[in-house]
Amino acid sequence: MINLETPRKFRAFVNQAHQVAAEMLRPNSRRYDLAEHEYPVELDMLAAMVDGLGASGTGSGAGASGVRRTAAASDGIVDGVANGSNLSSVLSIMEMCWGDVGLLLSMPRQGLGNSAIASVASDEQLRRFDGVWAAMAITEPGCGSDSAGIRTTARLDGDDYVLDGEKIFVTAGGRCDAVVVWATLDKSLGRAAIKSFVVMKDTPGMTVERLEHKLGIRASDTATIRFENCRVPRENLLGSADIDKGFAGVMQTFDNTRPLVAAMAVGCARASLELTRELLSDAGVQIDYDRPVHLQSAAAATYLAMEADWEAAYLLTLQAAWMADNGQPNSLQASMAKAKAGRAANDITLRCVELTGSLGYSEHHLLEKWSRDSKILDIFEGTQQLQQLIVARRLLGKTSAELK
Ligand SMILES: Cc1cc2nc3c(=O)[nH]c(=O)nc-3n(C[C@H](O)[C@H](O)[C@H](O)COP(=O)(O)OP(=O)(O)OC[C@H]3O[C@@H](n4cnc5c(N)ncnc54)[C@H](O)[C@@H]3O)c2cc1C
Repeated sequence: MINLETPRKFRAFVNQAHQVAAEMLRPNSRRYDLAEHEYPVELDMLAAMVDGLGASGTGSGAGASGVRRTAAASDGIVDGVANGSNLSSVLSIMEMCWGDVGLLLSMPRQGLGNSAIASVASDEQLRRFDGVWAAMAITEPGCGSDSAGIRTTARLDGDDYVLDGEKIFVTAGGRCDAVVVWATLDKSLGRAAIKSFVVMKDTPGMTVERLEHKLGIRASDTATIRFENCRVPRENLLGSADIDKGFAGVMQTFDNTRPLVAAMAVGCARASLELTRELLSDAGVQIDYDRPVHLQSAAAATYLAMEADWEAAYLLTLQAAWMADNGQPNSLQASMAKAKAGRAANDITLRCVELTGSLGYSEHHLLEKWSRDSKILDIFEGTQQLQQLIVARRLLGKTSAELK
């Protein structure tokens, strides 16, 4: 059965992540929000530390690359229950995003492409791409939510796949060492023919065309990348090249990455709640857990409702990660967690600005920034509407053709 306390073996690790967030991410938060596209050099040391923790085994799952579903990822099974690297990843990401979401997304070697590699690579590929910082490129000018509509092609030519197409909004696409690119082997075969390919940054035919200017997560670079006659060794196709094994393979990545994005939302919302509580307390608003809400001030009642919303998002996120660690299919729960946490973080961060008025809106505090940063968490890795659609399909037993 699931136990909702932080497992004892992760407590030191979670505390460490919190300390890093408090001492390294928070103090640099505003600076890199204002200096969009400037590389946060402080992260190099931090990433080396995360690598060290991973290598020593003490911090297995310290970041996005820790989401592999293997027995090793779920070591320490007690009473038939595993608390593995999916759970430790979401717990550490919550802490880091309490510090800063944009900086977490800029962390070397912890890109969403690393999660894709961890999720579907063979053992040989996992070894070969160890230490590579990988971004994830699915979205195209003509395809966002409907990832089955991918137009980028991969044509087998001798020992290489030749990639042609354009990818947009690639997080860490400018800074990464490699990009995991979703491309189709045959457009006429629809989603079954979509595969993912690791393309190293110096590969001829791959060009980073531009970086976006954004509302939030401005510390994170977001790139447009063009592929023209870009040759990739055939062994860089992740997972199986078999078309029959199709779309399910690449979609498996989302079961692992959606709980990570949910964790980002949970961390960012908690930061807003904590600061808002301090500011409300300074203004003389007391929040009393022992008195009915209707006997308290409107501000206190709003705050208590937000906390309840946050708790639901937090628990759904733990559940989705825990199921992954325990080998249980979690597509439904991953989408539920992403939908709930994304929306809760949007609502909470904006309502915190509202509750704190001009203090929340000004740059004196980070509340206004968190309300901007949180918006993306309800968009990428599948929008709110898409997650709800997936949940509905799963609950009603409908296919994507039956419920669009
Ligand atoms: C800052 C940032 C970083 C990003 N990072 C990455 C990344 O690293 N890699 C990557 O591949 N992509 C990335 N993306 C892209 C992101 O995943 C897409 O923006 C997202 O999937 C939505 O696609 P779209 O923008 O094309 O919107 P659309 O799919 O065109 O959707 C527009 C609106 O319509 C709604 N909608 C669409 N279909 C339905 C439906 N069937 N039912 C109801 N409503 C629907 C959507 O919810 C949305 O509100 C990033 C985007 C941003 C802004």
